[in-house]
Amino acid sequence: MSDPNCIFCKIVAGQIPSRKVYEDDDILAFHDINPAAPVHFLIVPKLHLVNLYDADMKHQALLGKMLGMVGQLAREQGLNDGFRVVVNNGRVGRQEVYHLHVHVMGGPEPVSSGSRSG
Ligand code: 5GP
Ligand code: ZN
Repeated sequence: MSDPNCIFCKIVAGQIPSRKVYEDDDILAFHDINPAAPVHFLIVPKLHLVNLYDADMKHQALLGKMLGMVGQLAREQGLNDGFRVVVNNGRVGRQEVYHLHVHVMGGPEPVSSGSRSG
């Protein structure tokens, strides 16, 4: 089930190109087009779920796979010294693309978590 107006459904369908990190029958991982860290990729379910409000225990295996793959994919992308995982949900969660996605961010530089000086 896909949403014809959804940009990540179009990426899943190959209608919009992306730099692929990993793909199987259930999930796709690809590099973020506007990275917030030296390595920044997204993991999405192929199924169009809007966000975590749209997921429930029916999706336990799918959600488990998304997180279960993170460590392996992070290592494959060179993130051997830690990384951040973020899932933005809804307006207050500052979600911009309304197809569930897990951000994985890291890299050789310290990953900023807000404004910091010195
Ligand atoms: P959100 O704020 O919804 O959690 O983040 C959406 C993310 O998707 C942003 O980091 C944005 O850069 C990324 N993004 C939006 N459109 C595209 C696209 O067409 N291709 C890729 N690779 N990333 C995208
Ligand atoms: Zn979608």
